[in-house]
Amino acid sequence: MSLEITLASGNAHKAEEFASLFPGNILSIVAASEKIEVIEDGATYRENALKKAMGYYEKFKCPVMSDDSGLDVEALPGELGIHTARFGGDDLSSQERNALLLKRLEGKEGEERRAQFVCVLCFYLSPEEIFFFEGRLKGEISLEQQGEEGFGYDPVFFPEKAPEGKTLAEVPDWKGLNGHRSLACQAALKFFAERIGQN
Ligand code: IMP
Repeated sequence: MSLEITLASGNAHKAEEFASLFPGNILSIVAASEKIEVIEDGATYRENALKKAMGYYEKFKCPVMSDDSGLDVEALPGELGIHTARFGGDDLSSQERNALLLKRLEGKEGEERRAQFVCVLCFYLSPEEIFFFEGRLKGEISLEQQGEEGFGYDPVFFPEKAPEGKTLAEVPDWKGLNGHRSLACQAALKFFAERIGQN
């Protein structure tokens, strides 16, 4: 029997993506019937994930899962991270945000371009049962945008362990297995499989 979890997000694409990362016999992720406005003013990914999960739990009174993610760029401390979605302002396209990031890193080379994607999942089953799982993907910011797949900052991110010279936007299958979201989901899956005795 699988545990039904409502995704604390109004984004149907995210529900689809998470549903594919969790086999239905352990966790079955369903989209929320309504989007709840949650102010993400936490100081960490974890705090923001918890705020989202609590907002949805209080409304729907059922087990929920939320996620918070972002890109930490070592040379720009505090600028992206939990603020990644708004880097450069609210009205920029992904392509414009990427161009701005490349501009801000002009003149920096090699290790000075180090970055990592982070994903934190919060499972809020009840106020007494709250679990967090994290996935991190280390890499470097590229010198130019490369690749058409994926979304967001994928075209400017060279993962450390992916095929040499390829951005995340060029290796979608690799990202599906090794990306920060996938790693966080794998950790959650392992935990819940053990918990319901299906490992
Ligand atoms: P959120 O998780 O929806 O809050 O997204 C935070 C920000 O991080 C957004 O701007 C996303 O574009 C970016 N982001 C999160 N995960 C990824 C990814 O897998 N690839 C590229 N950008 C990402």
